[in-house]
Amino acid sequence: MRLFRGKSELKPFSSAEELVTKSIKSFGMIDEYFGQALADMKELGHLDLASKPGKSPGGYNYPLYESGAPFIFMNAVGTPRDLVTMMHEGGHAVHSFLSHGLEFSAFKSCPSEVAELASMSMELMSMKHWDEFYSIGRL
Ligand SMILES: [Zn+2]
Repeated sequence: MRLFRGKSELKPFSSAEELVTKSIKSFGMIDEYFGQALADMKELGHLDLASKPGKSPGGYNYPLYESGAPFIFMNAVGTPRDLVTMMHEGGHAVHSFLSHGLEFSAFKSCPSEVAELASMSMELMSMKHWDEFYSIGRL
């Protein structure tokens, strides 16, 4: 699809697998632990990212307090907004991993001001590495 001035729409990825692979790489460039967190979720089957018929819209990270490994649900179709959502939910996921060691589960459920600090900060920190998703040749 052509938008304005002859420019094509941005298409940061074309499959859920590509989104996962590039997200792991981008996170790993910020901090090795961040990339490993997403890689562990992939290994555990905790990344349900692809759009499919009947799947609810939106995206979220859900912490699993027993194992400490959260899962991410989203309905990704390859838009720039999907990339931001993955970075955001990945930030929540890293926060879930890091808070797993807290003594009481009640301590792991924090107010949105705290939770969104981790996720929105990940959006901003990861931008430096979005060249994984947007190369000159693909624009
Ligand atoms: Zn959030």
